[in-house]
Amino acid sequence: MPRVVVIGGGPAGLAAAHRLLELSPGLEVTLFERSSRLGGMIATTVEDGFVIERGPESVIREKPAALALAERVGVLDRAISTRPGGGALVACRGRLVPIPEGFSLLAPTNPKALARSGVVSRVGAIRAAVERFFGAKERDDVSVARFVREHFGSEVLERLAQPIVSGIYGGDPERIGLAATLPRFLDMEKRGSVIRALEAAGQAADASARGARYSLFVSFDEGLEVLTRAVASRVLDRAVLGRAVTSLSRSAGGFEIGFEGGATQRADAVVVAAPGPVAGRLVQPFDRTLAGHLLGIEHGSAAAVTLVYREDRIPPLERFGFVVPAIEGRPILAATYSSVKWPGRAPKGYALVRAFLGGERFEGLPYEGDETLVALARHELRELARIEVAPERALVDRFLHAMPRYAPGHLARLADVRRRLAAVPGLFLAGTALDGVGVPDAIRTGEQAASDALQFLSSR
Ligand SMILES: Cc1cc2nc3c(=O)[nH]c(=O)nc-3n(C[C@H](O)[C@H](O)[C@H](O)COP(=O)(O)OP(=O)(O)OC[C@H]3O[C@@H](n4cnc5c(N)ncnc54)[C@H](O)[C@@H]3O)c2cc1C
Repeated sequence: MPRVVVIGGGPAGLAAAHRLLELSPGLEVTLFERSSRLGGMIATTVEDGFVIERGPESVIREKPAALALAERVGVLDRAISTRPGGGALVACRGRLVPIPEGFSLLAPTNPKALARSGVVSRVGAIRAAVERFFGAKERDDVSVARFVREHFGSEVLERLAQPIVSGIYGGDPERIGLAATLPRFLDMEKRGSVIRALEAAGQAADASARGARYSLFVSFDEGLEVLTRAVASRVLDRAVLGRAVTSLSRSAGGFEIGFEGGATQRADAVVVAAPGPVAGRLVQPFDRTLAGHLLGIEHGSAAAVTLVYREDRIPPLERFGFVVPAIEGRPILAATYSSVKWPGRAPKGYALVRAFLGGERFEGLPYEGDETLVALARHELRELARIEVAPERALVDRFLHAMPRYAPGHLARLADVRRRLAAVPGLFLAGTALDGVGVPDAIRTGEQAASDALQFLSSR
């Protein structure tokens, strides 16, 4: 029986191992995970009536891989939607104001609401509204910042698009390419005005959202780890924890996997589902350019400080939280009011707030000690959200070099990665270094790598 080794037990590696066994139950599959637990960055602490996310908090409904997997592992009935209401605030000259109605990631669809919001000046609002008269344009790729500046002007970029995009893609929109992150905006541009395209798409999306079973973002009653735990329970007997893979090389008709201390193991096919920098080092013996592509992807860092408050001691928390533009010059990137956004995250009478610190101007921050980070989060929440009291409890999580940033031209790099991988039969890559930065992307690439590996084995 052929043997497949999966490297990394995050959502990508778990999805790969699970899919291999789903499609070929008798297959010899071994998953090696460096840490002592499965789930990768997905981790939830459930205690004393609190459900506290220590990594990602939700999956987007529009990318179906995560919820489809949840259904297959029997936890879809535990999926939960965000509470009604919603929306977020944005920091504007030291105050929190609602993100203007109709603002969609990069683009204002409601120029009147933008003008009324005060987030941009009157001139800035008129500049954005003029986009409605833009003609069609065709290009392969452009930075997110340049695209927004050209379509809607600098104020929309600096005050709205930047904090929203940086929150998702972990970096400065000047260095993030549109084609690999939000290609639909390039498609809209090919037809003319983005505002007009979004207006048309908005009507269609409203119609489909009305019938949707879940909100745009979905989690589970006891957090996102419900999903990875359910998958992990199905592959647990194939998983080796606390075992980092340190090298990969060719061996007679297959691969030799090396571990710390010199131990090795043989495999017929390998799915590398470890983060990009690790994958880059592992594939170096096969193709240095391929390795260079993976090692060349920049990764951003951040810290999250989760704070528990007594609800009656803080001002009412408005909406689901806030984002902070870099132009505000603050070390806080965003905050999520988890207990407002999701049902069941805190016991009655308590509020759960998660503040994200870091950003390109504060790259060193996530390396600071817990006390400094908690003090900084409290300072920022005092100034922006008027939360004066000390929290009942504070937890700190760090994400070092954890958020891949797809630079302009990423798709060309990806195409070359695929070409070069095809020249190493039996080696497959999964995870977010390549093709989508979220959990559903990680799951999709893991499942794809599993089917590719099976196809390879059956064609030998
Ligand atoms: C702060 C933050 C918030 C986020 N929020 C969201 C969100 O709300 N929704 C969303 O969809 N996405 C979110 N993401 C992105 C999400 O975390 C990733 O998409 C997802 O974790 C990627 O899964 P993965 O399996 O590719 O990598 P990981 O989750 O990083 O897992 C990789 C695994 O490989 C293991 N490993 C590393 N090296 C080795 C080795 N040498 N040998 C063996 N094992 C190894 C690691 O220990 C780890 O378990 C967020 C990310 C961050 C940093």
